[in-house]
Amino acid sequence: MTEINFRNAQFLISAPSLRECPAEEGAEVAFAGRSNAGKSSAINCLTNNGKLARTSKTPGRTQLINFFSLGQGAQQRLVDLPGYGYAKVPLATKREWQAHLSEYLYKRKCLRGLVLLMDIRHPMQEFDTMMLNWAVDANMPVHLLLTKSDKLKRGAANNTLLQVNRSLKESGVQDLVSAQIFSSLKNVGVQQLEQVITGWLNPPAGEDEASVKN
Ligand code: GDP
Repeated sequence: MTEINFRNAQFLISAPSLRECPAEEGAEVAFAGRSNAGKSSAINCLTNNGKLARTSKTPGRTQLINFFSLGQGAQQRLVDLPGYGYAKVPLATKREWQAHLSEYLYKRKCLRGLVLLMDIRHPMQEFDTMMLNWAVDANMPVHLLLTKSDKLKRGAANNTLLQVNRSLKESGVQDLVSAQIFSSLKNVGVQQLEQVITGWLNPPAGEDEASVKN
């Protein structure tokens, strides 16, 4: 499998909706989570680049879909989806976000997978289940990051992972949805996350040649 250097990530563009997204070429992996789930910290940790995370925290960009190129002529991208669950947002704005998020998930053809972040102390809240259901409905692979694992003792963190895995199995989605423990603060699970994303972004063997011939 071709290795990806996540440290090469660079800000590409911000888009308010699917229409303004970059061309449907190459492959991308999106990050979603409630506000404060640790999304910026995780992207920062993965790419070793605080500037990217700041991009997504810039007022005015928090509600945008932010694209980062991983090199190779921007044929591989990370996508930071708008955070969700800010307390004082009007209902109409929330509905608009929902529409953009679901449209992106359902219609974006170059999207290969969704990393869904949730605080390990409060997994599977309303927004998380909503995103998970959309993704499963769209047959989109999902990797759940149980973030801030350093806030729990090791045993408790592993228990939560077990419970989440059990509920995925009970729902019959274990082939599409995986989960892991993660901590940006303590650098826990970074390699595992890199492997999942690399697997998603690399085209299946032979596809490269086919696209050259066409
Ligand atoms: P975002 O709103 O999802 O982008 O969340 P942030 O990355 O900004 O993180 C929200 C808060 O959680 C900040 O105060 C971070 O310092 C804290 N945080 C993020 N990741 C971790 C982690 O792995 N461990 C701990 N203890 N705190 C974290």
